[in-house]
Amino acid sequence: MQAKNQKIVVLGTGGTIAGVSASAIEGLAYKAAQRGIDNLLEVALGHQQHWPRALSNCQFDSEQVAQLDSKDMDFETWIHLAQRCEHWLSQSDVTGLVITHGTDTLEETAYFLSQVLSSAKPIVLTCAMRPANFEGADGPQNLRDALLVAASTHSLGVCLVAAGEIHHSRYVQKIHPTRLNAFDSGETGLAGRVHNDQVQWLDTFNTPNTLAKLRVTQLLPAAQWPWVEIVMNHVNASELHIDALVQAGVKGLVVAGTGNGSMNSNLKAGLETAQKAGVEVRLATRCNQGAVVPTENHYFDASSGLSPVKTRVALLLDMMSQLQSH
Ligand code: ASP
Repeated sequence: MQAKNQKIVVLGTGGTIAGVSASAIEGLAYKAAQRGIDNLLEVALGHQQHWPRALSNCQFDSEQVAQLDSKDMDFETWIHLAQRCEHWLSQSDVTGLVITHGTDTLEETAYFLSQVLSSAKPIVLTCAMRPANFEGADGPQNLRDALLVAASTHSLGVCLVAAGEIHHSRYVQKIHPTRLNAFDSGETGLAGRVHNDQVQWLDTFNTPNTLAKLRVTQLLPAAQWPWVEIVMNHVNASELHIDALVQAGVKGLVVAGTGNGSMNSNLKAGLETAQKAGVEVRLATRCNQGAVVPTENHYFDASSGLSPVKTRVALLLDMMSQLQSH
């Protein structure tokens, strides 16, 4: 018998991929995070004789790290997940990780992991838009594709595999509430595709330099993470909620500005006051493609080049590393 020289560990965190609905034709009203990771893995791999060749060299291990709808993802679970990833990545026989996750906040978790884990091994998130018991559920195929990407020697750092597409954690965003291909990587585009059990990397994709910002061991306990909120510019935006947040003790604010980071004068005045009071302010755009191009007219730091939710993750980690250097 051929030796299985690759070990892939599959970590379950919940989501629709583990969800169950009342009937096999109900794809929207369901309960996320019901099935265990062992069951998902068993279904995705199906019968051993039909395994793709690229997986025949692999052995699999799994761990249920969490079981939640990702709308409820929290800092404690992030810390635990990052610790479990680090544990498995440090084992010399483990060649890659796959993480099953709900689609709603997947891009935040993917970006967070990319900023706290430094490993040359592939870390592949996957998910589903239909519950596990739905007729034609997408989860088993997505998980199988994710395993193939984790088994390939090409490492992209942290990425997402869904609907036959490979997205980098820096660029990926959920852009549709119900479509099967709910994710997009904007102007940057896909890193690759998976078709018929074959992984195809796109030459047009340049892997960004994403050095981890903090080590997992440097993460503070969840209760000590700074309080960082996102606020948005829109017609008639005011400063009143900014003042209330500052009063309540917010430590950081990310502004989802309009266009290239513009904002209503009242909102800007409130943010300037907040910044003078010691609140860290970062600017992103509410446009769902592209990033703010900083100019001398920008009053707030617009350098992240990330979406508002990922700018928030970056700010949280920056503030945590500042806290530790004092
Ligand atoms: N609410 C679900 C979640 O994020 C949606 C999904 O997984 O598609 O866990």
